[in-house]
Amino acid sequence: MSMYNAESQHYSETRHPTLYLCDGDVVLAAARSPTATILFRVDKVYLARSVNEMYDGVPRVQLADDADDLARLLAALYDPTSLSLERLNPDTPILMTGVMKLAVKYEIDAVRTLIVKHIEADWPQTLEDWDAYQAERGAAAQAYNESKDKKFKGKYFDEVYPEPVAAIRFALEFDVPSILPAAWYQLATTDAKVHLDYDTIRRQPSLRLFSAPCSAKARWKLLQTDASLLTITMFGKAKLEDYMKVAEHILRNSALACESSQRCEQSGFKKAREFLALYGTPADPLYGIKQILTSGLWDTDMCTECIAYKHKQLQRARRTIWEALPEDFQLPSWEMTEAASE
Ligand SMILES: [Zn+2]
Repeated sequence: MSMYNAESQHYSETRHPTLYLCDGDVVLAAARSPTATILFRVDKVYLARSVNEMYDGVPRVQLADDADDLARLLAALYDPTSLSLERLNPDTPILMTGVMKLAVKYEIDAVRTLIVKHIEADWPQTLEDWDAYQAERGAAAQAYNESKDKKFKGKYFDEVYPEPVAAIRFALEFDVPSILPAAWYQLATTDAKVHLDYDTIRRQPSLRLFSAPCSAKARWKLLQTDASLLTITMFGKAKLEDYMKVAEHILRNSALACESSQRCEQSGFKKAREFLALYGTPADPLYGIKQILTSGLWDTDMCTECIAYKHKQLQRARRTIWEALPEDFQLPSWEMTEAASE
């Protein structure tokens, strides 16, 4: 056996460079590898645990947790900004999983709440917030398209918006139902064929050329590990397709008080076909109807009665779609989620 191997098999205990506080009243020991243990000296008030030995004049607790996750949790207790939580970062759910597991295990609510609130702020919970989120994304996509280096704030477009699969898995594991309707809607409206797998694209940036650079991406491969998530996504997508038909129906049918039925019928038929062609694959009824309402139906030659009638119906349909998202994706209702978070 070489010297190097013999050396590396020595067991070592090292004090954490910043989280070994000389005035701490408990020492926590956690393994970084089978042969390397990291020692943290912190304030016992944060952790109610049984003590089995002494170290450096204070009780020592041996933990089975990963030393890096523990370091992040303890750092967050003393300085919440150490978590480096960044708004709309697609990696947040993945980066926070280890810390969250420990925060839940040791019932450290301050850290748990901090992370949950941050992730909740990334995913809209009202239709108004969803519209603001989409408008922000639209503006970013435009800036991206106009930029010379094809980047937005120094990053690729898909790196500055949350990714739904990691968010869904995080929300299910740590019971954060409030973000699920929006995350699942985003997933169901993401085209798997065109946009490829998010992690694959990040490993091979040249793939971005073929991957609709300004569109949402998803970690499809991560979704594959859980068949029930795939099923919910499929059923939800089917519901969104039904809503497209509802909107198409509204666009096609004239108002009762229509002033010029034949012209309005032809115009409505044309608009309905255009609507399906533009927003039908993958079905994105919230976006499609919003586009129709924003541009108005004034570009058509429908009568004013029909335009007013269809506007009202489409607005109502859009509200209904948002309200029904929890049911469509087999989630607790908005009211239940809201009551639980109070
Ligand atoms: Zn009419």
